Amino acid sequence: MKFLQLLPIGELDGRLLIELVPAMANTFGVPCEVIPVRFDPEFAYHGERQQYHSSEILESMQKYVTRDSWRVLGVTMIDLYIPILTFVFGEAQIGGPCGVVSAHRLRQEFYGLSPNSGILRERLRKEAVHEIGHTLDLTHCDNYQCAMAPSHAVEWIDLKDSGLCSSCRARIRVS
Ligand SMILES: [Zn+2]
Ligand SMILES: [Zn+2]
Repeated sequence: MKFLQLLPIGELDGRLLIELVPAMANTFGVPCEVIPVRFDPEFAYHGERQQYHSSEILESMQKYVTRDSWRVLGVTMIDLYIPILTFVFGEAQIGGPCGVVSAHRLRQEFYGLSPNSGILRERLRKEAVHEIGHTLDLTHCDNYQCAMAPSHAVEWIDLKDSGLCSSCRARIRVS
């Protein structure tokens, strides 16, 4: 049996990870588990930007892909970027097997607001579904409520559902 495996990257609130497990299993119809290691992302830190290069992290995550892996999703609190963008909420390898998602800019306190664990959990779930969708070859969706809609700010994420629209679901044959 293959698992959707969550890989904790850097320091992370274990509850955030645990809460993702049933949500991801439900959405994709595959069992989900947490890989019991902590991936150290320091090699991908770039001091001039004070951020972590997500593509370098994705590449290094390949060593956690095993026969048991359906997909491997890195989950982190660190601030991710790719060189052409100020930041990214996440990045994925189109067609698989790895994706990574960051909660750094999903936190209300990043925007000077009071912490809200419910909002954080929902946003993280949506972005986790989004990145796994990319690993399944899904591209961005025109339906703004679909988890595969693009998001360049948290306001866009808040408009989305945590699931895939019917046409995206049909494309990956997940019920
Ligand atoms: Zn995307
Ligand atoms: Zn869609």
